[in-house]
Amino acid sequence: MTRKPVIAIDGYSSTGKSSISKEIAKRLDLIHLDTGALYRGITYFALSKCRSKTMSIDLELLYSAFDTIQLDFKEIDNELELYLNNKSIAMEIRSPEVSDQVSFIAKQAPVREFLLETQRQIASKGGVIMDGRDIGTTVLPDANYKFFLTASIEERTKRRYMELLSFGQKTDSDSVRQNLQQRDKMDSERDVSPLRQAPDAILIDNSSLTKEETIGLILKHIEDN
Ligand code: C5P
Repeated sequence: MTRKPVIAIDGYSSTGKSSISKEIAKRLDLIHLDTGALYRGITYFALSKCRSKTMSIDLELLYSAFDTIQLDFKEIDNELELYLNNKSIAMEIRSPEVSDQVSFIAKQAPVREFLLETQRQIASKGGVIMDGRDIGTTVLPDANYKFFLTASIEERTKRRYMELLSFGQKTDSDSVRQNLQQRDKMDSERDVSPLRQAPDAILIDNSSLTKEETIGLILKHIEDN
């Protein structure tokens, strides 16, 4: 039997990376890992357990607590759902507090190092589609297929706003846009493993494409290569 492919999908916030990867995983019978969920999981832990007296996040306390953090996944319909110390945190990691702090946590070298092995281990048997910011450049530089998604800030704001409403979260477009811009800036400018298109990744601007059209482009490229 031929080994199933390893696919890396990177790109800016709210370009549809996760929902597109989820759908491709179903169609190609792969496992989908949303790596942003891991960074959100650590951020949720830091906000819950690692506050300083002034209530800001105490990074040293977080690093010293790494060995008490157990991040596990349960496979549900080709999707890996994140558990922190045996509790599902699927909803908690989408909160505005987590969204506001996640890029600050994700730019810390010890955090990236802590999560690197987990991600590589999941991909080691093949048959995986992973979405994130540095999958094609750092986590899985030998992935069989690499894509980099981008879209206009207007379109991405609209998409994230609708997504948050569907989760029942009250928000407004301006805060959503600000959060996306701040995260993109921090993610692109950080020293360790910044958000970059890998030289061998296929660039897709999906500002005026539907989700189905983006999926079609990716599947066509995989079929043809
Ligand atoms: O994908 P999502 O928007 O949920 O990711 C949340 C944050 O996690 C990103 O803004 C980024 O700071 C961080 N992240 C990262 N590297 C990845 C995936 C996510 O730094 N591979």
